[in-house]
Amino acid sequence: MSSSTKIIAIDGPAGSGKSTTARLVAKKLGFIFLDTGAMYRAVTLLALEKKVPLSDADALEDVAASVQIDFKDDEEGQKVFANGRDISSEIRSPEVTAAVSEVSAHAGVRRHMVAKQREIGKKYDIVAEGRDTTSVVFPNATLKIYLLASIEERARRRVIDFQRMGKVTTVQEQIKAIQARDEYDSDRQNSPLKQTSDSIPVDTTHLTIEDQVNEIINLFREKTGA
Ligand code: C5P
Repeated sequence: MSSSTKIIAIDGPAGSGKSTTARLVAKKLGFIFLDTGAMYRAVTLLALEKKVPLSDADALEDVAASVQIDFKDDEEGQKVFANGRDISSEIRSPEVTAAVSEVSAHAGVRRHMVAKQREIGKKYDIVAEGRDTTSVVFPNATLKIYLLASIEERARRRVIDFQRMGKVTTVQEQIKAIQARDEYDSDRQNSPLKQTSDSIPVDTTHLTIEDQVNEIINLFREKTGA
């Protein structure tokens, strides 16, 4: 890992606001936003399309090894490409969301994704977010944040996200889905979600996006004197 690039690593459970916050922090600082969850979602989408069984570690590793994942910023946010194809919407579907934790639990899949993530972190100043960016991918990050929020608030945010995609769901349904995904992500053997001792917790339950962004930027400035 290079010490010449600056890395802000943000981990936390589903729906804690990581993506939106990380993207805006990156924009304000002129850093690259690295959405590691989108990478696991890309592998999951391709695996589902190829009808790879989610328990087939070798076949999933092949998918992870061969996919070229690219990110491109536009006015609406960040677009995600797999082998040149825009998959930004498809990777947010309920089907991919339901399958991604099982896919990302495989050590072989993670090895390839982590290698790709570190390559990006070597070249650019980045804001990375996910489940293991503070613990495994960038243990020497300049600043580590653990974002959290109440389960009700996280479920409410997911209902709004799905509404924007034209999908109807309820807070109760999302509480169940988020709890299942958090348990899977936290209890797995490979790189489970956890708060490292050097991560600063930021509870977003009652914060606006702007507050979250400013808090992280202030913490970064305090830490680096920038
Ligand atoms: O953050 P997002 O909801 O897009 O992440 C989707 C899933 O990808 C998570 O539930 C988790 O299973 C997996 N993931 C991971 N490690 C990361 C980022 C995401 O295992 N660094």
